[in-house]
Amino acid sequence: MTCPQSTAHSFGLGGMPAQFNSSGFLQGEALSGLVPTNFTFEMHKIFGRDKFSDDDVDYGKLELSLRMASALLMAAIPIFHTILVVGPKDTNKMTDDGKPIYQFPDPVEVLSADEVYTTWRRLDQMASGISFYIAGTEEHDIAWCVRLLANDGSLGPDLKGSGSTINIGKGLYDSVVKSFDDETDIINQQASAFNLATTLIHELTHAAINASTPYFHSICSVQYYLGESACTTEVGFETEAWLYGGVIPCLAIGGVEEYYNRDTGKWSHLNHLLTATEYPCPTRTALYANHPIKLYVRRGMKPTEIIWNVSFLHIHQLFQDELWTDFFPHYGRKVLRFAKATGFRFLVRSGKNELTPVLWDTDGVIDLPGHYVDKTGMIRKQGDQVAEEEEKKGAGGLMFRVGKLKDSALARVFGKG
Ligand SMILES: [Zn+2]
Repeated sequence: MTCPQSTAHSFGLGGMPAQFNSSGFLQGEALSGLVPTNFTFEMHKIFGRDKFSDDDVDYGKLELSLRMASALLMAAIPIFHTILVVGPKDTNKMTDDGKPIYQFPDPVEVLSADEVYTTWRRLDQMASGISFYIAGTEEHDIAWCVRLLANDGSLGPDLKGSGSTINIGKGLYDSVVKSFDDETDIINQQASAFNLATTLIHELTHAAINASTPYFHSICSVQYYLGESACTTEVGFETEAWLYGGVIPCLAIGGVEEYYNRDTGKWSHLNHLLTATEYPCPTRTALYANHPIKLYVRRGMKPTEIIWNVSFLHIHQLFQDELWTDFFPHYGRKVLRFAKATGFRFLVRSGKNELTPVLWDTDGVIDLPGHYVDKTGMIRKQGDQVAEEEEKKGAGGLMFRVGKLKDSALARVFGKG
């Protein structure tokens, strides 16, 4: 069997500066040797059919996402341990606008067998108060978590809080269901399922806080930090950043279809670039500024949003059973980490969602250890070529030998019709 391989091609976008378009940041991929989806990770009962109340939900098409969410739940056990088992402490500090700040202990890297067992039991108890709904309109490609009104004691004596309803935006749900329209489109199916699975873990960490903390805390808007290392009170993003290595997957660049499957000879219907945002992220903070659930930040904020390239191969390998049976037990969450090999800076987006790249400035210095900015504005790893980085990734114990990325200096612009 041939190993999955990727060759990157760069392209440009109308309305973007030529320098940005020729930087190579906009990278599509031609993929080959992809493994047909056969992901059998056992689904956690929190995602069972009985948790989805809508009769017409196409549960069969959510299964891949829910299996991935179950795997991520397992990877995030240290987070659920600190939230559901250890609990927060009052820091006796206040936010600038007078809300009490509580803090959970930092999630530990390795839990004892007893701690894992206790955490699974608490997750089971939490599950009894969770239900999922498909909500909103076709434009809703996000999800949101609503705390149930009062604690009726139904979560049992160990959990002081209340249950939650997790709403999956119709647009987000549709993207997963429609990804199966073309049965051969592994790329769209796995990328969409990964997106939903990550979103569900994000929402479940909010639900865990709702389950573990007293209801009156939500009324007086206590703010929680997920450990001393957490930079913001958005516990969902903190969880994503903990899992994926300081970045969160994002769909910042939509409306492009740039993934080609050489095995089927077809372009994928996936219609956004796979990217990840450095976290904490000033754009996220700005977007939440006028939101009722404000996001509080400590220890400063980067002046620009940094978005990293992500290879589909990274997502593809997360859908291999062996990654979870053979590699995850050995390497832990390291196997989930995004490469952060090439990236770009963008002005903080507030209100309008358009991306404005920050082009090269004279010093090439960036406040990210081990990285520099090249003459086009692209962020690269110090002393490395892109291809070298990819080879290191292969040698680091991950499953796939990743194909060398082509020199992307010559931009290739695909006609969008
Ligand atoms: Zn959130």
